Amino acid sequence: EVRGTVVVNAAGPEVDAVLGGLDAAARRPRFELSTAMNLVTRQVLPTHAVGLRGRFGVSRPDGSQVLREQVLFMAPWRGYSLVGTVHAPYEGPVTDRWVTEPMVQALLDAINQAYPPARLTRRDVYLVHRGFLPQDPARRGDDVSLLRQGQVIDHARDDGVEGLITAIGVKFTTARHLAEQVVDLVVRKGARPASACRTRHEPIPGGHLADWRAFLDEQRADWPVPMPEARIERLVRTYGTNCRALWPYWQMDASAARPVASGTDITRAEVRHAVEHEAVVHLDDVVRRRTAMGSAGPPPEKAVEAAAQVMAAARGWDARRTHQEIDRVWSAYALAEGPEVLS
Ligand SMILES: Cc1cc2nc3c(=O)[nH]c(=O)nc-3n(C[C@H](O)[C@H](O)[C@H](O)COP(=O)(O)OP(=O)(O)OC[C@H]3O[C@@H](n4cnc5c(N)ncnc54)[C@H](O)[C@@H]3O)c2cc1C
Repeated sequence: EVRGTVVVNAAGPEVDAVLGGLDAAARRPRFELSTAMNLVTRQVLPTHAVGLRGRFGVSRPDGSQVLREQVLFMAPWRGYSLVGTVHAPYEGPVTDRWVTEPMVQALLDAINQAYPPARLTRRDVYLVHRGFLPQDPARRGDDVSLLRQGQVIDHARDDGVEGLITAIGVKFTTARHLAEQVVDLVVRKGARPASACRTRHEPIPGGHLADWRAFLDEQRADWPVPMPEARIERLVRTYGTNCRALWPYWQMDASAARPVASGTDITRAEVRHAVEHEAVVHLDDVVRRRTAMGSAGPPPEKAVEAAAQVMAAARGWDARRTHQEIDRVWSAYALAEGPEVLS
């Protein structure tokens, strides 16, 4: 249960589940689901991001297949290629387990057909990015048409429910604009004094720098512990002007500057910082979202176990909870059960 003068429902594809407690009259779908899928693959084009016209088979909720022509992008990302994005209408539970092997193969086929030198096979796929995006309720026909602008729903105006706001985002890149609209509405509703919104002038956390190269050079010159150059640059890129928040960890314990396990570059300091300062709930948040340990594919088992030990110590988890958290990490990488496709 959540209580407050104003409650913001920002549960992404689950906004309708959160609204399930409203009176029947106010209960109608606000987030019509479309799937969204990208692949992280072996790097194909290291220097250029390209748009390719591809043909992609999409399954409709009724099981029928339709061949769609669309632009597929292929962008260099952290030493990999990121390819996608394909969408399809979806009716069913909000879960990570909707991608099947044939869907992955269909996207690979589309990419290979659009750009034959790619020659991507299933073994080149390290990770499947998947999730849901909101469809445009005003779309025509049964093809996917995504909502292009974030939505702020004031349930006082729409449904007579005072103090409830639903925010539906459509892009990370426009999330701050949506947040500004939501916070302005919260302030108006709460009738609290507030200064004018600073969002459009305020850099994102860690972004208070004018000249990236000069900043990197300054950090290198001041860096307090010996470390490979590539790791220093990765940390400065990741944390920006907040990178000094890691320093106390390795000043207390020099081993915190080293990777948590072989096969990963992520240090104990990064894991501890995530656990202590970045609002993590599950180990999965540390492994797949707050650090880059598993953001491009499943990390080595030893790295996950080492991160689990750090988090268990900080959160007082017993062995059972720690194992559950480790299992949760691996299940987040699994695809839906379905026919195997071997390539
Ligand atoms: C495959 C894919 C690729 C994308 N690529 C891009 C891109 O390249 N560029 C771009 O700008 N955007 C991209 N997006 C869109 C972007 O991810 C979304 O716009 C963004 O995540 C929306 O943010 P949000 O905070 O509104 O929702 P979400 O990110 O969905 O966050 C909602 C949060 O609410 C939590 N939650 C749910 N229910 C509850 C509850 N009952 N109680 C408490 N918490 C709850 C969830 O756990 C989740 O953490 C992509 C999306 C997908 C799926």
